Amino acid sequence: MPVKRINKKAVNNKSSLKRTAVNKPVPSINPATGKKIGLVPVTDLSKMAEMMKQARKAQSEWSLLSYRQRKEHIRKIRNYILKNPDEIATVISESSGKTRVDAMATEVIPAALSAEWYSQNAEKILKREKLPVASVLFFNKRNVIERYPLRVVGIISPWNYPLSIPFGEVVMGLMAGNAVMLKVSTSTTMVGVEIDKIIKYGDLPDGLFRLLVGPGDRIVDALIENNADKIFFTGSTETGREIMTKASRRLIPVSLELGGKDAMIVLPDADLERASNGAAWAGYQNAGQSCGSVERLYVHDTVYDKMLELLSKKTKALRFGEDRDFNVDIGSMTTGEQWEKVEMQVNDALKKGAKISAVSSRGVKKRGSFYPPILMYDVNHGMDIMKNETFGPVVPVMKFNTIDEAVKLANDSTMGLTASVWTRNIKKGIELARRIEAGVVTINDHLYTHGQPETPWSGWKKSGIGFTHSKLGLLEMTRAKLINWDIIRSRRNMWWFPYDRNVYEKLRLSLKLALPLSVTDYLKGAFNVPFFLIKKMFSSWKT
Ligand code: NAD
Repeated sequence: MPVKRINKKAVNNKSSLKRTAVNKPVPSINPATGKKIGLVPVTDLSKMAEMMKQARKAQSEWSLLSYRQRKEHIRKIRNYILKNPDEIATVISESSGKTRVDAMATEVIPAALSAEWYSQNAEKILKREKLPVASVLFFNKRNVIERYPLRVVGIISPWNYPLSIPFGEVVMGLMAGNAVMLKVSTSTTMVGVEIDKIIKYGDLPDGLFRLLVGPGDRIVDALIENNADKIFFTGSTETGREIMTKASRRLIPVSLELGGKDAMIVLPDADLERASNGAAWAGYQNAGQSCGSVERLYVHDTVYDKMLELLSKKTKALRFGEDRDFNVDIGSMTTGEQWEKVEMQVNDALKKGAKISAVSSRGVKKRGSFYPPILMYDVNHGMDIMKNETFGPVVPVMKFNTIDEAVKLANDSTMGLTASVWTRNIKKGIELARRIEAGVVTINDHLYTHGQPETPWSGWKKSGIGFTHSKLGLLEMTRAKLINWDIIRSRRNMWWFPYDRNVYEKLRLSLKLALPLSVTDYLKGAFNVPFFLIKKMFSSWKT
């Protein structure tokens, strides 16, 4: 894809933009500085049928390779990341406004780790699996499950982790033997271009991987019209619902990773120093724009004041603004639209009686880009800020008195992506984790497991359908097939024609043999069924 690094003169001159509009380039803007950083041509969707044909052809070649051979290609991709981490982190930071520390910790490192883990483990996870025969009635049968690629998968990704979210899925898709068409968010197109570049180092067959640039609805329509085999979507619940509705018309399966309203529960015996550090990081990092960030903080009454005091101090100390020389903790919001949503929720909460415990003053709030980290209290579940995803650097905190009350509050949400429990008593923490309606519950930590490719990530309730990451995510990239055969070739199964009373009786006794309620039952079955079964297997059907 011919991408132009920005030429300042061209950017400042709108008519020159018009002239280059033959390819309809999308200008990419650094949200922290407002500077344009690139122009990316929109994919010509009238060529989708051709691109799909090419993808299917490339996939046929690719799927013939062994896992070991596929791994060699992914290794080259991984090595490119390992050799160029700074360049990649800078592209991410410039495109999204996040700090380079965030880009390195939550994007570059997870991307490299996922290339390593999926390439190392795909064979083990996807290899044919023998199923032990569970009942004597099927002693003559053997079963294996085999995994096949879906063929061409579409991946639609959001702007908040523009590298690590789609990259892990691309690698999973490729290792499972698929062709991949990736559409990244138009807010972070330059990261898509970077992914395209990284993947090129894998020397894949032409057309096996394709970056699609342009409006999401049109790209998804084109994927569906051209019968993509599955759509993996990560983004808002509303868009996920829309995509699922469209895909259902052609029975195209979807995997949806959607929004969250994650709860963090601090028990009386928690290490408050760790809990406050953890809440600050998981609530404010990436300017709070994480599907699994701390969106609701519930603290036990006995430690509430202390926790609030510690977290207030930490909130005030955070530096936010443009990442010039690693001098800030929090970068900018990625889109102006998101900034407005956060501002609206904060104002709504304040109007309804919420108070601000601390706000970072170490930066300049700038409409559309920088939003100061804010800690709020006196909030309740009647407020938007406790009900709907905020996706900004705001942590609202509430008190609870009993564990039951904490569980009730945490589960009082239509979403269930992740949650966390903070306690020194791990056994108690695990018990509480079991009661929380979420796809991931961490104890004394929050959010970070997205960076561990071996752990599954999935939402309960309206937070998603299906899995990504880990063994479960890899399985989502395949179709399963059962292959079944007899070890002794026979003429008939016991339950085949011709039917008569004797067949019925023996079937009834076989139930006793398979699932005896008493020793007598078992013996009756054992004396009668095997002989009949073998006789029927080898006798001719006399008509
Ligand atoms: P979004 O739904 O607006 O967009 C996601 C992707 O879909 C983008 O590529 C976008 O261009 C495309 N898109 C937008 N409208 C579309 C349409 N009508 N049809 C088809 N595609 C369309 O989400 P976003 O604002 O980019 O991301 C933020 C949301 O993503 C938050 O709700 C966040 O919680 C969620 N998210 C979830 C996870 C998870 O793993 N569960 C991870 C990251 C983000």
